[in-house]
Amino acid sequence: MFIFLHLRIEEEAIQREVISRGFKRVLIQTPEGLRPYIKELIEKLRKSGVTVLLSGNPCFGACNIALTEAEKLRADAIIHIGHSLMVSCGNTPVLYFDAMYTFPFEECLRKAEEQIKKAGRTVALFSNLQFVECLEAIRSILENWGLEVYIGRGTGVKYPGQVLGCNYTVPLNVESYVDFFLFVGDGSFHPLGLALLTNKRVLALNPVTCSLKDMSELKRRYLRRIYASIVKAREGKVFGVLVGLEPGQFRLELAEGVKKLIEATSREAYLIGFTHLDTGFLEAYTWIDVFVNTACPRLSIEDSERIAKPILNPAELLVALGLTSWEEYVGEYSET
Ligand code: SF4
Repeated sequence: MFIFLHLRIEEEAIQREVISRGFKRVLIQTPEGLRPYIKELIEKLRKSGVTVLLSGNPCFGACNIALTEAEKLRADAIIHIGHSLMVSCGNTPVLYFDAMYTFPFEECLRKAEEQIKKAGRTVALFSNLQFVECLEAIRSILENWGLEVYIGRGTGVKYPGQVLGCNYTVPLNVESYVDFFLFVGDGSFHPLGLALLTNKRVLALNPVTCSLKDMSELKRRYLRRIYASIVKAREGKVFGVLVGLEPGQFRLELAEGVKKLIEATSREAYLIGFTHLDTGFLEAYTWIDVFVNTACPRLSIEDSERIAKPILNPAELLVALGLTSWEEYVGEYSET
């Protein structure tokens, strides 16, 4: 069953802000999923005498700001739609605007009611920016069912209940109060990311398919795969340390530290900088045995399956180098 989602972009607010700040030439940057919906906004800006430029590069998150494009295209400002501020950077002003979906969540919740009630009595809700607006209404429904509901607050995000794939402070702040977590949004990346950080159950309500998924099996599969990668990495002689150059992914100190740790075990290590990484490009480094990812966790969680060589995160590298045990890494969760 597929559900019709309604997307809301704050076109009037964007137009007002651009005009009031006197910007004459703006670059619009959005994730690919929102690009079909921005034509009306473009028309409004054009009618107000503003020259509109469009970013053609991929846009995966708030970490990824089109500063180079804006500078080269001589834009006065970047209109970044669909993510909230993560890091302040560059000389070009960046204006952030939400894009939120609404969906008939009552219907989806009714379908999932039995499974949700079975998971426990206390729950924390979390979501990515696109669905965070629905959380309060979902809270009311769950409370009517007799559940105790928490929506945490955290750092580095704009709304209560909001997570990024690299920031789970919101749900983790209320972890000790709840029996389980309920994610509202599409895709497995965000709920799996939390499942890897907690021993509590994580359920994911997908508003697009109107279905509920328990993340336990995906977590088990990820841990099995990573365990195999760690075993393989122990034999590695040459390591490539991936350094994301996007403003919100750039962790050079961490990458340098990782390189030193590897070299201290008499192995070779090289830093590899990138802005947009396709795992296929890594395979051309045929003489590198293992990659260590210090950039976006999506690369380790979702994309690493696409290449045969191990891609570990820094914590997994410590296990491969024998500096931490596997049991410490997975905590009490040791079903592999
Ligand atoms: S680093 Fe990855 S998870 Fe974090 S904001 Fe960027 S795209 Fe999202």
